[in-house]
Amino acid sequence: MEPCREIPAGADVVVIGGGIVGVSTAWFLAKQGISVVLCEKGHIAGEQSGRNWGWVRVQGRDTREIPMMLESLRIWGDLKQDIGEDVGFMRGGCFFTAQTDKQLDEFAGWIDTAAEHGIDSRLLSRSELKELVHGSAIDWAGALYTASDGRAEPHIAAPAIARAASRSGAAILTGCAVRGIETSGGAISAVVTEHGSIRTSVVLCAAGAWTSLFCRSLGIDVPQLRVKGTVARTAPAEHVLNGNVFDDSLGIRRRADGGYTVAHGGVLEHPVTPSSFRYFGKFFAALMQELRILRLSFGSEFVDEWKTPRTWPLDAPSPFEATRVLDPEPTPRVLNGIRRNLDKMFPQLKETPIVESWAGMIESSPDVVPIIDAIDSLPGFHIATGFSGHGFGIGPGAGKAIAGMLTGSDSGIDISALRLQRFFDGSPIRPQSSI
Ligand SMILES: Cc1cc2nc3c(=O)[nH]c(=O)nc-3n(C[C@H](O)[C@H](O)[C@H](O)COP(=O)(O)OP(=O)(O)OC[C@H]3O[C@@H](n4cnc5c(N)ncnc54)[C@H](O)[C@@H]3O)c2cc1C
Repeated sequence: MEPCREIPAGADVVVIGGGIVGVSTAWFLAKQGISVVLCEKGHIAGEQSGRNWGWVRVQGRDTREIPMMLESLRIWGDLKQDIGEDVGFMRGGCFFTAQTDKQLDEFAGWIDTAAEHGIDSRLLSRSELKELVHGSAIDWAGALYTASDGRAEPHIAAPAIARAASRSGAAILTGCAVRGIETSGGAISAVVTEHGSIRTSVVLCAAGAWTSLFCRSLGIDVPQLRVKGTVARTAPAEHVLNGNVFDDSLGIRRRADGGYTVAHGGVLEHPVTPSSFRYFGKFFAALMQELRILRLSFGSEFVDEWKTPRTWPLDAPSPFEATRVLDPEPTPRVLNGIRRNLDKMFPQLKETPIVESWAGMIESSPDVVPIIDAIDSLPGFHIATGFSGHGFGIGPGAGKAIAGMLTGSDSGIDISALRLQRFFDGSPIRPQSSI
């Protein structure tokens, strides 16, 4: 996608953010003949959507996400044919391993949930697991396993969907930060970008880790916090598994290039910022749930957020132009842990070099489930955010559901449980899955 030089005068819908959620929405809208412009401040999939582990799984999800995720798996399965590009999707299965029989028993609750939704999850015994995951030095008691879950290549998927949206008529503008919204009579009349205004009455804010800041400038409170994930990839190596394995010490999946994407299974880093204090109450349950693996850090992020203005003039550079791509440093200590745990789990990969590492800022909602909603106080404004550590897999399904919300048509996916007000109307905030 070429950086933006000129912008369309108007569109039925403007999407803010070129991650998997924004591009999938644009694709579904454009296929229906809706005129849509997508504005991305950096490049497509520059943030979370190009930095994640690439797991596409329904296993272990919050029940509120399951219908959307099942639809997403169906879309992933047809994607190669539908967009004419291979994004590396394959169903290699998803394994959550158990060290003890007691841990294995704890997966029984999910087996019941899966059965209710027709999902093919089952428990694998020690020997069954050994047949599917070769040569592990860890003597797992067994695993929770869903054969129909899969993986795709994050750096390929969202750009390929963006190209498909563009072929269907969407305008995909990169290097095009949205600074704010103009209103007329209380409703949206235009989106103001760094390159000028686009007339529209419908906006989707799919701005990932920036959604809370953007919405706050409009007087809309969206509780959101960030956690950093450090990730690495190995060179192509011998075949030890085909799918995705999660163990307390390591998350590992096979890549389309024959290597492995690896991450620490037991570390979540939260850089403390003013938002951590502001939203502490709403995130209390999520933080307690992750307490064992949560590492708090106090660094420049606190000062950066402190110094970021809450509102800004729309005719001057905004905070979104100041950080084109959120590109945190991978944490060396976590990288060392990944190497150590990989060698321990698969000694046969000891000589396989780690050839690249990176980090990504995961943005989470208080109950670790997305917020997809129309905002009553600003007619025409919608948000889709808070996908937490599992928005890549569900992204295409979310795009279909969001396109339905924006056009007032029935996508067949119920998103009523994902409304923003659940965090403000006294509903209990209860995460069902981890970040
Ligand atoms: C380390 C890591 C591992 C993960 N592992 C998995 C996994 O295995 N499976 C899974 O399903 N999910 C995983 N996730 C989560 C997943 O990546 C995210 O939930 C998903 O990518 C979110 O997509 P998005 O489109 O909402 O946001 P993003 O991909 O963050 O996209 C938002 C975009 O909006 C742009 N933007 C923001 N503000 C503006 C503005 N004002 N104007 C224009 N553009 C703007 C940003 O530049 C950004 O590109 C992981 C995430 C990380 C970081």
